Amino acid sequence: MTSGDEVVVALDVGGTGMKCALVRPDGATVHAERHATDAARGPEAVVGTILDVAEGLAGKARADGLTPVACGIAVPGVVDEARGVAVWSANVGFRDVPLRDLARGRLGLPTALGHDVRVGGLAEARLGAGRDAGHVLFVAIGTGIAAAHVVDGSAAVGAHGAAGEIGHILVRPDGPPCGCGRPGCLEAVASASAIGRRYAELSGAPATAAEVADRAAAGEPLAGRVWREAVEALADGLATGQALFDVATIVIGGGLAQAGPRLFDPLRTALHERLTFHREPRLVAAALGDEAGCLGAALLALDTLAKESR
Ligand SMILES: [Zn+2]
Repeated sequence: MTSGDEVVVALDVGGTGMKCALVRPDGATVHAERHATDAARGPEAVVGTILDVAEGLAGKARADGLTPVACGIAVPGVVDEARGVAVWSANVGFRDVPLRDLARGRLGLPTALGHDVRVGGLAEARLGAGRDAGHVLFVAIGTGIAAAHVVDGSAAVGAHGAAGEIGHILVRPDGPPCGCGRPGCLEAVASASAIGRRYAELSGAPATAAEVADRAAAGEPLAGRVWREAVEALADGLATGQALFDVATIVIGGGLAQAGPRLFDPLRTALHERLTFHREPRLVAAALGDEAGCLGAALLALDTLAKESR
C-alpha cells in the first residue's frame, strides 16, 4: 500500500474545468493537469472525456515508472457513493451516470466516486486546515454554499447522497429566491454570487463579492451594508451547523474565503454572538486551495482500496 511508486489517479470534475492529478498515498501530488469540462457538449461527451483523461493519467503513471493502484473521481451535485452513481448535477448535466463502474471498466482499477465538496472536506480535515481535529465542518462558499461534516477522517454521505447541503438552510424567510426554488436559503443571501447580485441590485452597478469586500473595507457604506448582511446570514448558518454537529473546527473554503480577515474577523464575532451553551469552534480558512477536491478524491479511492483488501 505505501510502497514508493504507487499512485492514485484522481479527478475533480467541475462545471467548467477538471483538475486531475497523480497522488501518492501520503497525499503528495506527483503530477497535475487540467482539462476543460465543456459541459455544453452534454453528459455523454463529458463522461467520455473523464474516462479518456483518467486512462491517460494511468498511462502517464506507468510511463514514469509508477504503479496506478486506484482511481478517485469527484463530481458535483447528488452523488450515491455506495453505488458509485452520479445521480444528479445541475452544472454538468449528469442524470444517474454509473461513473464508478464505467471508470473501473475502462481502467481496470478499483475506483471510488465522491461528491466534490465532501471529498474536499475530507482532504482539508486530513491534510489541510482541519488536521488534528477529529470533528470538522468544511464549508465551501462560491457560486453556491455546501458543506462536509467529517468525523475521524470520514465524511458523512447521508441516506440519499445529499448530506451537507448547508446552503439550503433557511436563514431569511422573506429573503431572495434560491436556485432550489425556495426563498431565503443561506446561499441565496451569502454565497459569493449572491453578494455580487445584492450589491448590483442596490447600487445599479455590477460587482464581484471580492470587490464588495474591498469597497466595504475602504468605507463605502453600501458595500459595508451588503457585506455585513452576508456575514450575519453566514453566522446564522454556521451557528445552525454547530448546533447540529458540535465540531472542533470549521474550515471555510471556496472563493469567498480569499477575503481573508475581512471575512473571518467579523464572521468570528458574529458566530460568537450566536452561540449560547454551544462550544465555540475554531474558524479557519481552507489550506489546500482548489487542489482539495483532487486530493480528497485520491483519499476516498485509497479508503475504498483499504476496505476492499480487508
Ligand atoms: Zn435553496
